[in-house]
Amino acid sequence: MLQTDVLVVGAGLAGLRVATLLAERGHSVVVIDRRRDLTTSIRTTGIFVRRTLDDYDLPEHLLGPAIRRVVLYPPSLREPVELVSERDEYRVGEMGPLYAANAHAAVKAGAELCLGTRYLGGSNGRYEVTGPDGPMTVHARFVVGADGARSRVARDLGLDRNTHLLVGAEDVFTVSEAVDSPAFHCVLDPRLAPGYIGWVINDGIHAHVGTAGYSRRFTGGVRSTLDEFATRAPGLTEADRSPAEVQRRGGPIPVGGLLRRISSPDGLLVGDAAGAVSPLTAGGLDPCLRLSDYAAAALDEALQTGRREALQDYDGGALRRKFTGRLMMRHALAQVKHPLLASAGFGVLRTPLGRAAARKVLFGDRSFPDPPNPIHLGKGSEPGTGYTSTETMSRRS
Ligand SMILES: Cc1cc2nc3c(=O)[nH]c(=O)nc-3n(C[C@H](O)[C@H](O)[C@H](O)COP(=O)(O)OP(=O)(O)OC[C@H]3O[C@@H](n4cnc5c(N)ncnc54)[C@H](O)[C@@H]3O)c2cc1C
Repeated sequence: MLQTDVLVVGAGLAGLRVATLLAERGHSVVVIDRRRDLTTSIRTTGIFVRRTLDDYDLPEHLLGPAIRRVVLYPPSLREPVELVSERDEYRVGEMGPLYAANAHAAVKAGAELCLGTRYLGGSNGRYEVTGPDGPMTVHARFVVGADGARSRVARDLGLDRNTHLLVGAEDVFTVSEAVDSPAFHCVLDPRLAPGYIGWVINDGIHAHVGTAGYSRRFTGGVRSTLDEFATRAPGLTEADRSPAEVQRRGGPIPVGGLLRRISSPDGLLVGDAAGAVSPLTAGGLDPCLRLSDYAAAALDEALQTGRREALQDYDGGALRRKFTGRLMMRHALAQVKHPLLASAGFGVLRTPLGRAAARKVLFGDRSFPDPPNPIHLGKGSEPGTGYTSTETMSRRS
């Protein structure tokens, strides 16, 4: 039996962020993950956008070169549209070491990390898990569901669950030669990526070749579609079309927008479990960090004051309203079911107006919205303490 203030289920970026912030505030935190090694079974490309790079101290040595160039391709792959930003827009993280660094930061802050430990279920502060030493009961004042798109914690807390999902898959490998200008290549073809895009991101160190879409619309399955795409994907040298060693990644991506009910008196959801992913771009790394900051503040207040109602303010419904435009664009993208329609869309994209709209989506300043009723960090504690920075990832003041 284990007793703790907060049980965090899932040691992805969202769970580790909440755990670190709460442990820094002096709360006892247990983080569990079913993975035995956080550097394996990675489910993300790891593209960090400018807003995240500006606002969070990601370890510099674990980020690839900056990318400013995006090339958009129609199904024929001919006459692509190239957009170049005057600012550094994207950097791809070395995700294995990044997860390890974040886990290290959580432990250094005082959290207890239990790997190879699976959440089985529970309620009312009593949760069953099973780990290397067998089954165990964790007594926790609050539970945090950071357990991904198909969250069991959401089910146990009676909260909303993701129903609108894409499935993504990608190959990652070390490239054989440096590129002149790192680029993000996006292919809009509903046969390759039904409802989303196929991508190649080649930063001159690693290449990621991937696709995502609605699973039932992949006629041959997502993996075989990816294998076919890899033979003709743009942005790669011939040598890199059949790399010697490939790491395979993949997983579900919730794109239905932030869920409405993401907290109960017993706990809350963060990251993919809360649907904190842009419905349009399917980017979830920036939202998961920002929502985790908000979650940590809400939990800190509830723990310090003993008022479970403090979690009521952690409300997905209020934030969700800010996603209306992106949800409409997701709906429009889902309607592109024929390559001819995608090709016709490129006619619009080639106009000055089309290029300006694409630049706004790809290079814009939009990010995860700030909460309407911000819960102040460190409320109830000594003034000025706030959240201290960690060695790996912290919000800059
Ligand atoms: C193929 C792909 C590419 C992507 N690329 C990008 C990108 O480049 N940029 C971007 O911004 N977003 C990207 N996303 C989305 C982004 O990766 C996610 O939104 C983000 O990683 C979510 O983090 P998380 O911590 O919420 O979830 P996760 O990282 O999925 O972590 C959940 C953790 O919970 C653990 N877990 C689950 N169930 C249990 C259980 N019962 N017991 C114990 N542990 C459990 C899992 O092992 C896992 O470690 C991509 C997604 C996919 C699928």
